[in-house]
Amino acid sequence: MKIAIAGAGAMGCRFGYMLMDAGADVTLIDGWQAHIDAIRQQGLYVETETTQKHYPIPAMLADEAEGHFDVIILFTKAMQMESMLKKIQPVLGSAKVVMTLSNGLGNIDTLANYVPRDVIYAGVTLWSCELEGPGHIRATGSGNIELQPIASSDTAMEEQVVALFNRAGLNTEISENVLLSIWKKAAFNSVMNTYCALLDCNVGEFGKLTMALDLATSVIKEFVQVAVSQGIPLTEEMVLNTVKKVFDPRESGHHYPSMHQDLQKGRLTEIDYLNGAIARIGEQENIPVPVNRLLTQLIHAKEQR
Ligand code: NAD
Repeated sequence: MKIAIAGAGAMGCRFGYMLMDAGADVTLIDGWQAHIDAIRQQGLYVETETTQKHYPIPAMLADEAEGHFDVIILFTKAMQMESMLKKIQPVLGSAKVVMTLSNGLGNIDTLANYVPRDVIYAGVTLWSCELEGPGHIRATGSGNIELQPIASSDTAMEEQVVALFNRAGLNTEISENVLLSIWKKAAFNSVMNTYCALLDCNVGEFGKLTMALDLATSVIKEFVQVAVSQGIPLTEEMVLNTVKKVFDPRESGHHYPSMHQDLQKGRLTEIDYLNGAIARIGEQENIPVPVNRLLTQLIHAKEQR
């Protein structure tokens, strides 16, 4: 099975080397020239808790994407997906599976503008990774994947993909309702990512604030109303339970969410696909969403500063 990973940043590279280790034929596609050059010259340099290794993974620039791939995994940030899809159009036509595991709401709709719905697989992942520099990642910890084909009835392909991912140790399960998982993770991120980024704190520090649960609940209440209007059976309890769990310093209390890191590094955030998506859909559906609207504007203000 030939696999292309379009968006070979932190997560794309982590999936790339793990799939290669399991014997898959993987190609990395990205627009960052220095990164592609480094991977071509010395291989992808991967540091884990116990190993350092160079992986000779084929890599190509997105503008020059060509070839036939059975599976294409999109791993850009949500706001970059459309631009990546435009660049890799020459390779999209032959794919039997086009997958998104990126965070945020709306990724499936973006994909559906470029490929038939019956090749789209969507999911969420708890794997993580850091991009240290061109051609260099730090891949620590473990994770899992919940995945579901959106409209395909090709169960043989589904079994092949899951078997390959599990040979690679990616701990993958087919979900019964991946949309619910996507909305649940987006709601969680709309609390933790957004508040930690605005308050310049880690998850544990946010959890210790006397008003943390009130702040979280005001985001989640709007999120749930909007989810239900879209036929997603999300409940406040589902999201609050995951939020309360990470407040415990023994869980991920010391972790700075990615939006905090994005702002620290002067990068744009995925806010329009988190709280911003709730503000947008809520307003279309006449559901009051002042909290998510305000938080979206505050993060955009931080981006501008
Ligand atoms: P990243 O910024 O490290 O990687 C994105 C890559 O896409 C970059 O290498 C960039 O050069 C490339 N890219 C973006 N737009 C492009 C374009 N138009 N043309 C060509 N190349 C382009 O991001 P990441 O941290 O790997 O995150 C990817 C997704 O996974 C996000 O939705 C993120 O929220 C989610 N996620 C990340 C982690 C993590 O630990 N990093 C964990 C879980 C989920």
